[in-house]
Amino acid sequence: MYSISKKITIGQQALIAKNFFSNDEIIPSAVTTFTCCDCGHTNTITIIPYETGFPIFQIYNEDKVLSKTELLKNKMVTETSARMIHFGALTVTDLPTLYFGTECESCHSNYIVVFSYGEKQPGLTLLNISGVWKYEDSE
Ligand SMILES: [Zn+2]
Repeated sequence: MYSISKKITIGQQALIAKNFFSNDEIIPSAVTTFTCCDCGHTNTITIIPYETGFPIFQIYNEDKVLSKTELLKNKMVTETSARMIHFGALTVTDLPTLYFGTECESCHSNYIVVFSYGEKQPGLTLLNISGVWKYEDSE
């Protein structure tokens, strides 16, 4: 898991085994796999609440890594509804939204994972992986 700080170009979306987790499925971590678009290798993703990921704001702040338009166009996030805007302008299912970079352990292609995590309502905590996309450095 790493953060991304330079401009990237989003490529193909990878297939993930499971993208929606609730309550006990998230403790101690949410675990799923994605299939590399290039070599077909199955890679494991482990998301530990409050440890894995970096705020998605860091990606679209001043269009540093990706613009808001690019994030929306690739359906990585949606515009946050007005009453949840304290989580930022762009989120996944109106919950605090994070991302991280990872690579295929076989061919070392780069991927970005976008997910949200939080309490949707009292007693219901959700983790929703928006997707896993291949990317290339564009600088
Ligand atoms: Zn690969």
